[in-house]
Amino acid sequence: MAPHIEPEIWFLTGSQGMYGEETLRQVAEQSRQIAAALDDSPQIPARVVWKPVLTNSGEILQVCRDAAAQGAVGVIAWMHTFSPAKMWIAGLDALQTPLLHLHTQANVLLPWNDIDMDFMNLNQAAHGDREFGYIQTRLGVARKTVAGHVSDPRVSARVGAWARAALGWSAMRSLRLARFGDNMRDVAVTEGDKVEAELRFGVSVNTYGVNDLVEVVGEVTDAQVDELVKEYEDTYRVVPELLSSGERHDSLRYAARLELGMRAFLDAGGFRAFTTNFEDLGGLRQLPGIAVQRLMADGYGFGGEGDWKTSVLVRTLKAMSVGVEGGTSFMEDYTYDLTPGEELVLGAHMLEVCPTIASGVPNVEIHPLSIGGREDPVRLVFDAAPGPAVVLGLADMGERFRLVANEIDVVAPPQPLRRLPVARAVWRPRPDLPGSAEAWITAGAPHHTVLSQAVGVEELHDLAEMSRTELVVIDADTQPRRFADEIRWNQAYYRLARGF
Ligand code: MN
Repeated sequence: MAPHIEPEIWFLTGSQGMYGEETLRQVAEQSRQIAAALDDSPQIPARVVWKPVLTNSGEILQVCRDAAAQGAVGVIAWMHTFSPAKMWIAGLDALQTPLLHLHTQANVLLPWNDIDMDFMNLNQAAHGDREFGYIQTRLGVARKTVAGHVSDPRVSARVGAWARAALGWSAMRSLRLARFGDNMRDVAVTEGDKVEAELRFGVSVNTYGVNDLVEVVGEVTDAQVDELVKEYEDTYRVVPELLSSGERHDSLRYAARLELGMRAFLDAGGFRAFTTNFEDLGGLRQLPGIAVQRLMADGYGFGGEGDWKTSVLVRTLKAMSVGVEGGTSFMEDYTYDLTPGEELVLGAHMLEVCPTIASGVPNVEIHPLSIGGREDPVRLVFDAAPGPAVVLGLADMGERFRLVANEIDVVAPPQPLRRLPVARAVWRPRPDLPGSAEAWITAGAPHHTVLSQAVGVEELHDLAEMSRTELVVIDADTQPRRFADEIRWNQAYYRLARGF
């Protein structure tokens, strides 16, 4: 495996030559301190690397080109002094990485008693950054603007959210996704334009014959299976019938073989996301359950029934949530409790819910599955941990993609789900189930989603900006009629913004 390289964000400081050496020396020193403060922040999941102060258009163009070429996941720009913004046109036009405009200054307090023209000359971000804002807006540059001093935790949190989105965007741009089989027959929302996806998101989506996978599964050795079965027994509560002494142990061994084969196939092809389809299992003896669940836990994207769009989102949100508490999983709205005023969603899937969202240690169980026509599949069974989370869906509207997010609160099941043989999450969507469901359905958003306890709406908003994709958010303030208007306005806006 390649050595792990910590992602970099470059810190760019704009100025100009006319201030003279002494002022530029101070600009360099103070901008280094700002970059170091961001670099030290535990809220920002990347190195923040200071670059020499920029004073002319040639330097600016070069650093903007270098950022992408040298693998930076984003750049932060700050105009400590005044940096005449025509100098930035060529650079911003060439910039291939996400941009954050940090509107800050070196000092928190003004030295009211001592302030003189030297101080005024040095500390001009209040208007220097407005000049920079003008050119960004004039050029239509996608970016996030954050105002405030870097010592303010709200500022580093907002920069951190953007940095997480940049990690997700970087993962998406280089993502290769393998589909085992095509979409479930006749399903509409899991379809989509794979050419447009590669153009907009950079993700490459291709289908492989299921029996190519079957062949790799067959090459797994018994020794490898022994080792993984032991890991299952050490990590989870395995039901007695699946233990080595149990009468169905062979099913657990086959599930382990399936996991090893899928992992080998994905890693050999450089795939970090995949889909399956129960209608197309070839020579597989079980629908992959625990295999998919554990691959998701290791950061692979997954979508059921050929749903590559949701698989892309699962992988992207996994990349965004590195180092944060809480998990991220493939999810499906399954069924409701419609008790008036206390409505709840029960979310699950046939098998494939990621154990990173579990509360407590999952069970490993085996039960019949009425679809797929194969042997009973082995799966992890658990309840999702309570707490705030978000569900996110991606729909192909024919001419473009639409992201829809809903803030939710995962709750403990009101009663133990003794007879339900799959992993599940129970939640109360905001503003409430009727408001959420009406808005979600009005938006044409999918029944497959990604549920994340680790990524919030601000990160998703930043990701949408980077990818220039519509995002509509359903939260505590959502009112169905205004939401329907927002959808109509967005339809008009995105059609106009696309040009002719
Ligand atoms: Mn499904």
